[in-house]
Amino acid sequence: MAFYSCSYTYIDGRVCEKKCYRKEGCHIHWKRRTRIPCGECGTPTASSYGMCTKHAGKYYSKANYDKNKLQDKKRDQASRVIQKYV
Ligand SMILES: [Zn+2]
Ligand SMILES: [Zn+2]
Repeated sequence: MAFYSCSYTYIDGRVCEKKCYRKEGCHIHWKRRTRIPCGECGTPTASSYGMCTKHAGKYYSKANYDKNKLQDKKRDQASRVIQKYV
């Protein structure tokens, strides 16, 4: 049985190096290999935004804000159209 060495890298730069059966990493870390560093601060995250929870929140609320603004604009246009026909 060939052993691999976990290549999981901690935030401070240390490598786990635990012997493991999976080339993805040891039993603690192999699931975390899918994590990508936050585009803002580099914290490994499993978030689909590519941002850690702290920074994804910022982007998420911004997307929400833009959506709300767009809806407001539509509502504005709709009420203007109505006013034209009154
Ligand atoms: Zn590990
Ligand atoms: Zn972040």
